[in-house]
Amino acid sequence: MTQYPRRTIAVSIAATAVLATGVLAGGNATASAPQELDDSGPSKVLVVLFDQMVPEYADRFYMPNFRELRDAGTNFNDAYLGYMGSETVIAHNVLMSGQTPRNMGWVDEAYRDREGLLSSDTDQMWITGELTYDQYGTIIQNKGYPKLADYLQEAQPGKKFIVVGQKGYAVDSAAAESEYDTYDADIHVKFSGRTSSTPVAGSPDQLCNAELGGRYRFPDGKNVPSYLTEFCGRYYVQSADPYGTSAAFPSWIYPLDGNRFVPGTDVDHLGGDNWVADAAMEMMQNEDWSGMFVTMGGIDKAGHMWGAQSDRQSVPGSPDYQSHVQFAAENADVQLGLMLDKLEELGQLDDTLVVLTADHGATWGQDYYGKTSPGISTTSDTNWYYGPNSLPSVYNNPSPSIQPLVATGNVAFSYQSTSIQTWLKDASKVKRNQALKVMKTLPGVMATYWKHGTRYVLHDKNSIPGDEKAWFKSTASDIVNTMADVNGPDLVALLRDKVSYGAYGDHGGAGETVQRVPMVFWSSDMDAGNETSSTFRTPDVLPTILEALGIEQTYPTDGSARPLG
Ligand SMILES: [Zn+2]
Repeated sequence: MTQYPRRTIAVSIAATAVLATGVLAGGNATASAPQELDDSGPSKVLVVLFDQMVPEYADRFYMPNFRELRDAGTNFNDAYLGYMGSETVIAHNVLMSGQTPRNMGWVDEAYRDREGLLSSDTDQMWITGELTYDQYGTIIQNKGYPKLADYLQEAQPGKKFIVVGQKGYAVDSAAAESEYDTYDADIHVKFSGRTSSTPVAGSPDQLCNAELGGRYRFPDGKNVPSYLTEFCGRYYVQSADPYGTSAAFPSWIYPLDGNRFVPGTDVDHLGGDNWVADAAMEMMQNEDWSGMFVTMGGIDKAGHMWGAQSDRQSVPGSPDYQSHVQFAAENADVQLGLMLDKLEELGQLDDTLVVLTADHGATWGQDYYGKTSPGISTTSDTNWYYGPNSLPSVYNNPSPSIQPLVATGNVAFSYQSTSIQTWLKDASKVKRNQALKVMKTLPGVMATYWKHGTRYVLHDKNSIPGDEKAWFKSTASDIVNTMADVNGPDLVALLRDKVSYGAYGDHGGAGETVQRVPMVFWSSDMDAGNETSSTFRTPDVLPTILEALGIEQTYPTDGSARPLG
């Protein structure tokens, strides 16, 4: 099997040396030449999100470009999300808004439409990952906060805000418009759904299927530039080959579908994070932009399939080689290096604030309570979701592990990953306590909470492992409370670390391993190498970006601007 060529360290360091002026060779800042400081500071911001990247990956794997920025910029080494759910569909709009989920509009993978925003049925459950761009906008506008795009467009009229990534719900939720948005030239680019496996004979679809080697995906979104949409061109990638991941546990719970999350070997149609970065670079070059949010999903897919930190890379030549966490992390780092090189080549690097982070961390199912059979639609999705009345999809095939809860007959919806959130049909005291009593007996449960207006009340605890006590005591109630909105769950159960009910590798809860994220800010005018343990939570990202760009914050956020070195 042909491997996609990686950049070598020599190329990488040479290409990004300008980034690290003064801190190459092991961060020896004292030996450096004085830097040219740009008094005006950056006017652009590039947020690069590594989906599900835990901070340790930067050192455990070969990620020289990430390390260079981290070591030359401001690295908040104590950063964590500070909210639930620790999920992709939450984080992408927390980052863009500075709001915690309760003030952002949706708090988890499921949403009970108590305010009747999406339909007139205020009991209706919705899967947030399946909402449309317009539906995210409706919920955001109901809350009424501005987003990063609004601030940038106000400060720099006419310049574009761009979101690009593989996942529809990540890109759509990040790009969805607030009521402040009167500027209609934003661009967002994501993968389309999969084309039919049985196209009409002789149709363009069928010809492209044949060329790419199976069903395919192509760029979709809003205002997608024409240079990305040539039919069956570079940005069309095959969506068929599972690369061996449908043939073994645990990857078969959530297997690959072709080159959505891995680059693959067709050099004319590379997918995965290469697809994202290539599209980003074309837009850097061709658009007059002020902000760009690049979200790369490769690490997340690998982590879900194989168990995140517990995964071990397979040997080169294995069919599943590209599907593992190490490959994904190192490949994502190559893409980061290429994007930085591109900015430099375009003369934009000195004017750009670069933010590196993740949307959540990860843990894995050392104690695994999901179904273990193959198949996304029959196993992983139905491990995560139990919702016999949800829209647009119905999930009614729960893991046996949550059957005792389902058997109460009082579950309107339940989402379980590395925590459990349950929406009740009847939340009256007697019925609620009945469900809480059952919830406490589910495997891996440490603590149970019930929603009481604008906060959650700790109902009961099982024993908490010694190495999780301090984190639990200092963070759990604050984190759980960020879900306390009318749409949120009636009950929450926090699980021990290394417990999963969803995919084998997963996230979603309040534990330290799923809450910790890398948090790096770099611009060429920063003093080099500010490693700090000062407070940083993900809602701080938006205010911190605004301050670094010299844009006045005009609407309250749950986060605060944190000082950069
Ligand atoms: Zn994610």
